[in-house]
Amino acid sequence: MSFESLGLIAPLMDAIAKQGYQTPSPIQEKAIPPILAGKDILAAAQTGTGKTAAFTLPLLQQLVVSNKRVTSNQVRALILTPTRELAAQVAENVAALRAFVPIKTAVVFGGVGINPQMKQLRSGVDVLIATPGRLLDLYQQNAVKFDQLETLVLDEADRMLDMGFIHDIRRILKVLPKKRQTLLFSATFSSEITLLAESITADPVKVSI
Ligand code: AMP
Repeated sequence: MSFESLGLIAPLMDAIAKQGYQTPSPIQEKAIPPILAGKDILAAAQTGTGKTAAFTLPLLQQLVVSNKRVTSNQVRALILTPTRELAAQVAENVAALRAFVPIKTAVVFGGVGINPQMKQLRSGVDVLIATPGRLLDLYQQNAVKFDQLETLVLDEADRMLDMGFIHDIRRILKVLPKKRQTLLFSATFSSEITLLAESITADPVKVSI
């Protein structure tokens, strides 16, 4: 299987080549086509499998293709991660893959000053990578708005629950548009994750490797 056969646009193929990726990993092969088709996804994948690119590539493609202009404080795609380390790592991967597309991104997490983050969000971003607590702080201060949100990604959902973020996640979900695409990635699918997944996705495609 090749990246070409997954239906990715030229500027993303260029970024993939620049990163030195030669063939899609199994999770990329399985997850990219249904995400490009607009489906919700429940994906079982561990770190190191290429899961970040598996959601980032189709996410970027959809944002480029739909080509909507983001307005003040709005966000078109939200990637939630459990820790700031993971948020930074995902942001780095996203930055590499969006090298040749006109997509604006930002990353926000706790433990650092909130003012520079508020400033970064002022003119809106296409993709926001965030940890749940800081995202709620920013939302409460009206620094981030979700009227234009098209896609939600929950990365390492099992770790988010293990770390006690379920209430934060529920509070965030309450303020997101109901009509959206939801992609949930988790290393494990306990009954708690399955319950959460069922309540936040619609007719999801299940992918495992
Ligand atoms: P992840 O599972 O997203 O943490 O990715 C693990 C590592 O694999 C990262 O350093 C990625 O840059 C790299 N990677 C992702 N997709 C591919 C691919 N198709 N071929 C080679 N390396 C990849």
